[in-house]
Amino acid sequence: MSETDTSETATSETPGAVTFVGLGKMGLPMATRLVGAGIRTVGFDVGPAARKAFAAAGGAVADSAPAAVAGATAVILMLPDSGIVESVLDDPAVAAALEPGVTVIDMSSSEPARTRALAERLAARGVVMIDAPVSGGVARAVTGELAVMVGGEDADVRRVQPLLERFGRIYRSGGVGSGHAVKALNNLMSATHLLVTSEAILAGERFGLDPAQVLEIVNASSGRSGSTENKWPRFVLPGTYDSGFGLRLMLKDMRIAVGLAEQVGMPSRLGADALALWARAAEELPADADHTEIARWLRKRAEPPAGV
Ligand code: NAD
Repeated sequence: MSETDTSETATSETPGAVTFVGLGKMGLPMATRLVGAGIRTVGFDVGPAARKAFAAAGGAVADSAPAAVAGATAVILMLPDSGIVESVLDDPAVAAALEPGVTVIDMSSSEPARTRALAERLAARGVVMIDAPVSGGVARAVTGELAVMVGGEDADVRRVQPLLERFGRIYRSGGVGSGHAVKALNNLMSATHLLVTSEAILAGERFGLDPAQVLEIVNASSGRSGSTENKWPRFVLPGTYDSGFGLRLMLKDMRIAVGLAEQVGMPSRLGADALALWARAAEELPADADHTEIARWLRKRAEPPAGV
């Protein structure tokens, strides 16, 4: 995966009319960044509250997906999963409204194989598709500092590069679907180290250690990660559990990555075990639980000490 050299490959052209479908926790701040950059952006979300929030941020709002995509030169999707992305793009009314030559950018964390199949269906209608999932969470969506993992043909990516740069730093990963593959694998790593980090810190706490001190020491040591440097100090220690990334979305990403690993004959045994625990947590926690709740869920499952 290499970072795109913007000085050589960027075109000065910024797509004229942009449609942004999915104005949720990530989509709203991302679409708002386009508006802030003076890019004409039409937003659509099935949720009236999300549409209202985008209008309040200065965006133009459409009341249906077909109306939103009509006349767009680029259509960005930031939706929960592949099934929902497909339900939007395979809708005959949306298909009829998409102009040939439009570039569709799926920034959701979708399934790579389904993305490739969708790109082929769209190509048959003269519509180009690239995938550009992101990492960095809501805070970095607001500041435009996301890592943007881009899969697609070079020429297609170049055409929309000025748009993608509004969201953060672009990393090329290969052909269409490759961004979604990297994203899922990244989240399998992230979820697994958040789980083991939480287990270790909670065991330390039972032993009598102060979790804040453990984090300080680990962050100067070899056990550090995004979980110790970011998630535990910001969302678990203060007890807010409000990172803005849902537990069920994390579970979806883990399933994609564990499935991909199996498919290529490189099964992730540790990943599959971690996935089983996250799935148990998802069954027991409310539907809208934040993914950092995994730490609180583990603490609740603690057993009586066997004697330290
Ligand atoms: P979210 O649930 O907050 O937002 C999704 C939005 O899509 C909602 O507003 C929902 O109403 C809308 N939606 C659902 N079906 C729709 C449809 N058919 N047409 C139009 N709108 C529809 O989710 P999110 O946290 O913003 O995540 C979006 C994607 O980004 C997911 O794939 C997620 O895995 C990924 N992601 C999230 C984060 C994060 O920190 N939240 C970080 C990186 C990647």
